Amino acid sequence: MSIKVEEPPAEPPLGKQSLEFKNKFFKEASIQDWNNWKWQIHNSITDYKRLEEIFGIKESGHNLPLRITPYYASVVYNSKKLGKTVFPSMNELVHSKGESLDPLHEEHDSPVKCLVHRYPDRVLFLVTNFCSTNCRYCTRSRIINNKEEEKNQLNEWNLAIDYIEQHKEIRDVIISGGDPLTLPDSLLSYLLTSLSEIKHLDMIRIGTKVPIVLPMRINSDLIDILKTVKPLYMSIHCTHSDELTEEVKTACNLLADNGIVMGSQTVLLKEINDEPETMKSLFHGLLKIRIRPYYIYQCDPLLGSAHFKTSVETGINIIENLRGHTSGYAIPHYVIDAPGGGGKIPLLPKYYQGQDEEGNILLRNYEYKNYQYFNN
Ligand SMILES: *Cc1c(COP(=O)(O)O)cnc(C)c1O
Repeated sequence: MSIKVEEPPAEPPLGKQSLEFKNKFFKEASIQDWNNWKWQIHNSITDYKRLEEIFGIKESGHNLPLRITPYYASVVYNSKKLGKTVFPSMNELVHSKGESLDPLHEEHDSPVKCLVHRYPDRVLFLVTNFCSTNCRYCTRSRIINNKEEEKNQLNEWNLAIDYIEQHKEIRDVIISGGDPLTLPDSLLSYLLTSLSEIKHLDMIRIGTKVPIVLPMRINSDLIDILKTVKPLYMSIHCTHSDELTEEVKTACNLLADNGIVMGSQTVLLKEINDEPETMKSLFHGLLKIRIRPYYIYQCDPLLGSAHFKTSVETGINIIENLRGHTSGYAIPHYVIDAPGGGGKIPLLPKYYQGQDEEGNILLRNYEYKNYQYFNN
């Protein structure tokens, strides 16, 4: 009988796509550098010179801020669709009807800085203004800054934590920003521990794009912090199946193996993911890495976002093409976050067609066949 020798831990995987990209545009970086999330943030593409070198995109007088991690740049480099989500464009200077800087009126529902308390039993906690990769359609671009270092936020956090402690009706806290997973381990640990100690909280959620744009952040030190917080949910921002690389799969499997429940949030974007088949392959890909599709958002009417906007019928048609045609688990809710602070409102194809004189509920199914249900 042979004795099995324990193998040294495998190198974190580096997909072929990112390796080739690294060797082309970040030659001086080692694989260890590339796999280090802090290296990724420090070496992110933030200037137009670099954007032009890699993507051939020129600044054309607007000088809008930008930020893309080298890892995500490697994904965008190999995708026809994703560039538009992160490359600044002149279209952002076009202001259209109904658009504003804070379309969801988050600042109106803010009892203390950092918190948006819109729904009775849950609260949104904006813990940082920094994101590793800036999305051009970001609903919070009004607060996103491009600085890696922030002034000590502990005082503001503590005021928010006090508010949550005093409001016993809150049972769910959504930590967002900016991207909370760009915080250093020590701060994240402080935040999650403080919230975990609040008895009336049933659950904590983290809203993040890190597993998609900076998957190397999901390392064992982070997992050690996250797994002490239970139950922990993660809402992961994703856009297209091109994002589901080997690195992302590894990161998400690690999260799932450690008990973190994952859902996805996807913004419906014109010519990027507005085809039913594109969405379906994204949602099938997410289920394979144990992320449950949670929301499709109609694009928020953010200032300068008209070029991303699809019609509402486009979104309803996507749901129409999913329901009945694939696993119910692959079907998220399609919602409009109502401008002015009305919250998320779901939209569905017309499956419910009203009632007849005898009180029957009139229904139509995914094949456009009609059915009745006797309603007592
Ligand atoms: C989206 C959101 C929530 C969470 O909504 P769910 O439907 O529970 O996911 C909470 N507060 C605010 C302000 C939000 O925008």
